Amino acid sequence: MDKKGLMLNKSKNIALIAHDSMKDNIIRWAKENKGILERHNLVGTGTTARLLSEKTGLEVKGYKSGPMGGDQQIGARIAEGAIDFMIFFWDPLEAQPHDPDVKALLRIAVLYDIPVANNRASADFILSSPLMEMEYERHIFDFEKELKDRVDKFINE
Ligand code: PGA
Repeated sequence: MDKKGLMLNKSKNIALIAHDSMKDNIIRWAKENKGILERHNLVGTGTTARLLSEKTGLEVKGYKSGPMGGDQQIGARIAEGAIDFMIFFWDPLEAQPHDPDVKALLRIAVLYDIPVANNRASADFILSSPLMEMEYERHIFDFEKELKDRVDKFINE
């Protein structure tokens, strides 16, 4: 498939999500990294966003709660190019009612080549990367060309 570049700006749109057993972890991590996080635009699933705002003082725009469609909303924003980066502390020990949504979100994040941290160590490595303060060219499929090729294929059949 053809690929094309998409620039990430220096100030990034970061999605923050944590399953219930991981909420303490994401709050602690966000407090420790507040100085960096406040330079970016933050969004999150409903409960995570509200807790982060109240416990850290960071401004975090909340979507719906994860089990109520919030993961899908964030996935849609990634597909629209409105999210550059995702911290998603999912629970490795418990099944979730919205497991299909979690899988879909992780898939769309890979498809759109956004950096994803699923645990604290990855989040620390990503946040301390020099690339955080630079523009970066993501490599995503050339969806416009792909669409045109597919339509042409059906027309020419
Ligand atoms: P929540 O959703 O932030 O509303 O708890 C997180 C999730 O389960 O995806």
